[in-house]
Amino acid sequence: MFNTNLTADSFSTQLLRWFADHGRHDLPWQHPRSPYRVWLAEIMLQQTQVQTVIGYFNRFVSRFPELADLAAASTDDVMQHWAGLGYYARARNLHKTAQIICLEYGGQFPQDPDLLQQLPGIGRSTAAAILAQAFAQRHAILDGNVKRVLCRYHGIHGWPGERKVQDLLWQFAEQHTPATHVVDYTQAIMDMGATLCTRTRPRCVDCPVNHDCYAHNQNCVSQLPTGKPRQSIPVRSTRMLVLRDAQGRVLLEKRPPSGIWGGLWSLPETSEESDLQTDCQQRWGLTIEAIHAGIPFRHTFSHYHLDITPLYLQVKNPGFCVMEEDRWLWYNNALSDRPGLPAPVTVILNQLSELDGL
Ligand code: SF4
Repeated sequence: MFNTNLTADSFSTQLLRWFADHGRHDLPWQHPRSPYRVWLAEIMLQQTQVQTVIGYFNRFVSRFPELADLAAASTDDVMQHWAGLGYYARARNLHKTAQIICLEYGGQFPQDPDLLQQLPGIGRSTAAAILAQAFAQRHAILDGNVKRVLCRYHGIHGWPGERKVQDLLWQFAEQHTPATHVVDYTQAIMDMGATLCTRTRPRCVDCPVNHDCYAHNQNCVSQLPTGKPRQSIPVRSTRMLVLRDAQGRVLLEKRPPSGIWGGLWSLPETSEESDLQTDCQQRWGLTIEAIHAGIPFRHTFSHYHLDITPLYLQVKNPGFCVMEEDRWLWYNNALSDRPGLPAPVTVILNQLSELDGL
């Protein structure tokens, strides 16, 4: 049984009072709070915490200060400035959306939620957050933090990914969103979820709505929100080849534009069954002179684990194999200006300096 015995504004009024003294008022995307900066921050904040986003956001807007700069940039440049934030489809969608807004909307963000939601990477909650913060329109948001707050506050059981639970959460989110002060309220409820009503060890004693909170009053905070029904995810394995030539350069391969690590520069991979010498000869005309197996490690995606074995190979490059320039890159690992790399590839390349004995 969940808690509905509350007026719409008892929640928002107390939250706004708390926000005035304890909320975050100095985030970089709040000054100035342009649609471009708000949108960029919202996309970065999907799946990533504020403290991590701040550095990426500042570097990103320093390189692409306006929407038109992002739209005109190369995919490589965008991916390079996103590398390390993960969930790379976000960066590809960001780039596409910037181009669409420049081409189809004269460089101005549409102010209609339905139009915004048609743009790549913008769902209902993100559209609402952009319109509320950049245009002061009254729209309810429902990101992961808000779901957690509302599940606990109203005592909503059931996994928030389920349709009927989500519909109920949207109803409460709409109900609580005030007619005025929507810019502050939107930031306030995000801040509350991120700083008070945290996933583990929430600070209920400091919470402005603790008197009315179902989970706090019923002593069941740790049980809400209900977790996703357990399902095991598959394990895949791969060997990543660190092919080093006589000049110490490493061969990188550009991933296809969509899919895992789309558009990033990665290491060539090979299955455990393949014969390395034959593979290297046939694919790149390279002869292996020495092999050193690195320490295997696991990288986990949302839908599978990837067990990676790095293989460090010293190779002789007679140079007779012509490689497409936009797909293959002999990269000097000593350079500080790295192209966009997936996180596991960065780990492997960072270990290279320890392997000088190869
Ligand atoms: S009282 Fe605790 S559980 Fe309830 S909303 Fe506040 S922080 Fe969350």
